[in-house]
Amino acid sequence: MNLAINGGSPIRTHPFPVRKTMGKEEKEAVLRVMDSDVLSGFVGADCSAFYGGKEVKNLEAEWKDRFDVKHAISVSSWTAGLQVIMGAIGIEPGDEVICPPYTMSASATSALFYGGVPVFADIDKDTYNINPESIRKNISTRTKAIVVVHLFGNPANMHEIIKIGKEHNLRIIEDAAQSPGVQYKGQQVGSIADIGGFSLNYHKHIHCGEGGVIVTNDDELAKKCMLIRNHGENVVESFKFENISNLFGSNYRLTELQAGIATSQLKKLDGILEKRNRLAKHLDNRLKDIKGLNQPYLEKDNTHSYYMYPIRYEEEVIGISRSTFRMAVMAELPRPTSWDTTPLAEGYVKPLYFSKLYQDQIALGSKGFPFNVNKEIVYNYQEGLCPIAENMYSKELLVSPLIQEAMEIKDIDSFADALAKVVKNKHELFELDENSSDSVFDPVEALDSCA
Ligand SMILES: *Cc1c(COP(=O)(O)O)cnc(C)c1O
Repeated sequence: MNLAINGGSPIRTHPFPVRKTMGKEEKEAVLRVMDSDVLSGFVGADCSAFYGGKEVKNLEAEWKDRFDVKHAISVSSWTAGLQVIMGAIGIEPGDEVICPPYTMSASATSALFYGGVPVFADIDKDTYNINPESIRKNISTRTKAIVVVHLFGNPANMHEIIKIGKEHNLRIIEDAAQSPGVQYKGQQVGSIADIGGFSLNYHKHIHCGEGGVIVTNDDELAKKCMLIRNHGENVVESFKFENISNLFGSNYRLTELQAGIATSQLKKLDGILEKRNRLAKHLDNRLKDIKGLNQPYLEKDNTHSYYMYPIRYEEEVIGISRSTFRMAVMAELPRPTSWDTTPLAEGYVKPLYFSKLYQDQIALGSKGFPFNVNKEIVYNYQEGLCPIAENMYSKELLVSPLIQEAMEIKDIDSFADALAKVVKNKHELFELDENSSDSVFDPVEALDSCA
């Protein structure tokens, strides 16, 4: 027996390098803020401090420059940013917001905070992003907006989606949490449509623990976002909006410490993207020779950020189940000590509509709001709603978090060697496979067991 899962010797035993995100620049930023003694500069009244302190303003100025956009508005998380945006674009109870089901949950739940109803459109089988054809099929008289996620860092088909938005007078929100600095036909994702933004949580390319940045070229939307970010009810009169609906606010403010760290991180973004692209190209080349494992699809005019590296698994070609394959690959490689040293996970996320929130249609309160606002409509979140997303989750997609900046080409080679070895020796797995269960491996469970 050659495979490590059957007692053979593994491809590699020494651990993969762990991502190290904080350096001396971030430490300096923290000390700078500590010395200033101002940990947040926000004031909830109509004055310059309504827009935040020095570090927040500085981060936003640098962000505008880097992403070539008129307004950058920092927020306490990108989840908060999505909620702020739903308020700013005027989502009302019963409005429908079309979004993909194959994404982080906040891409969809943000609409619920204003009584909007998430309607799920299926994804494209090559890019894993929302499919314009499916968007068209889901448009109704109640549709108000579309949330587009550039999943894993690969741009969605913005050309078509913007066309649909124009035809039906819909707002388009770009969730670029996984794709900072990615280009779609020469434009920066996040700022192509009406409004968009980025996450600064620990797992993203650059971070400050928790945080987010909204970007837009629309002056009015920008003002509304700033109101909602900081208790808009106190100052909305001076902003002179005729219609003040949704403009009361919350506290979605970023602190000076986080802003200072994020400013230092922003300077590192291009280096991180360059490194991830170099590693991914190498893995692309290695996968070319392995039938049944398909590298990510990327259109010629676009760039990618490789938040994760998706591999499409063809069970018919390889002949064993995805979960047996994954276990055999993991056995060839060092035991993960963190998410970013985990060679492979299955399925990414369960399509969002399978969660109890949608299954029971209970969100705000216990009486079915907002799913019951449109009395004549019965929302359907049943299995089969988005077959491509369901299939990616349960059968075809593997994702590797190993494409991260602490890795070197030799590390990616160990990974590719493990993939190639398992495919070459797959006959050793037939028996194991017959006895395996069909369940999808849960990476969170796996991490708990290695913590
Ligand atoms: C991370 C992420 C979010 C949420 O960002 P937070 O800053 O963690 O709130 C939303 N959408 C996508 C696609 C993400 O990856």
